[in-house]
Amino acid sequence: MATIAFIGLGNMGGPMASNLLKAGHDLTVFDLSEDAVRTLVDEGAKSAASVQEAAAAAECVITMLPAGHHVETVYLGDNGLLASIPSTTMVLDSSTIAPETARKVAEAAVEKGIAFMDTPVSGGVGGAKAGTLTFICGGEPEAFEKAKPILEGMGKNIFHAGPHGAGQVAKICNNMLLAILMSGTSEALALGVKNGLDPAVLSEIMKQSSGGNWALNVYNPWPGVMEGAPASRDYQGGFLVNLMNKDLGLALDNAVKNQAAVPMGSLARNLFQLHASQGNGTLDFSSIQRFYYQDKH
Ligand code: NAD
Repeated sequence: MATIAFIGLGNMGGPMASNLLKAGHDLTVFDLSEDAVRTLVDEGAKSAASVQEAAAAAECVITMLPAGHHVETVYLGDNGLLASIPSTTMVLDSSTIAPETARKVAEAAVEKGIAFMDTPVSGGVGGAKAGTLTFICGGEPEAFEKAKPILEGMGKNIFHAGPHGAGQVAKICNNMLLAILMSGTSEALALGVKNGLDPAVLSEIMKQSSGGNWALNVYNPWPGVMEGAPASRDYQGGFLVNLMNKDLGLALDNAVKNQAAVPMGSLARNLFQLHASQGNGTLDFSSIQRFYYQDKH
């Protein structure tokens, strides 16, 4: 079992840290929120007064922070962790951030002989709680093999996408596709219903036909079609429209930098941005269904 510093105990980081404790790891935690820290301490973690103190004796540091600038603040600069931790510490950043930010932190780590990997996740808060997250890793193969047993305490599928930054690239590609699939599925369902079809019957038909996809299989956006899906609880919980917008923003920025054409991704970004601006930012992203069919819901 490893001695781990876990930094960022929010909606995702809290349950992930909790699962590492359950797996038997020795955890020291830090978050700006005292409440978040207290919850983990109640479960058996040690608390620290700063990121530096949390990481001081750790074999592995894991961060789960909101965005790239938080990650840069924690790792880089004179007060950053990379300036104080020993070169034997392994660093895993599971936040969703721009690939170039991940590469910047990785370069600074490599200069100090520290193994760094970007390890963003897919699976949402439900996956974080259940310990079934997918980890998408970017970094050296040796670091990947070393990190795998730790990540297995929080996830079910652990992928090595390639070198530093590749985990973040794969993550934003996946979420751009997810946004496109969810918009397209909602659009098709709305068209069918406007023609008098039952959304449950149409969903089943498309599921078994060439339009079948993840949204239809496990995350149907039409209210009442799928028990347990966010659509059936007024789009509460799940993966927020605001977070989808963050990821689509990362995908589009990346496309500009790489001169990649992403017309479907751009359209999805505009749809979700408009949807957020209409007061839906804190609903689950499958609420994009309401954009296509408002008169009934
Ligand atoms: P969150 O806002 O719930 O949690 C972030 C936590 O980081 C907060 O508790 C905050 O206090 C803490 N924090 C911020 N700056 C800090 C600092 N300098 N030092 C210590 N703690 C600090 O966010 P979340 O939903 O847990 O998401 C975390 C990351 O995971 C994001 O990058 C997000 O894009 C990604 N992600 C989220 C989901 C999801 O469904 N929520 C799914 C996949 C990936």
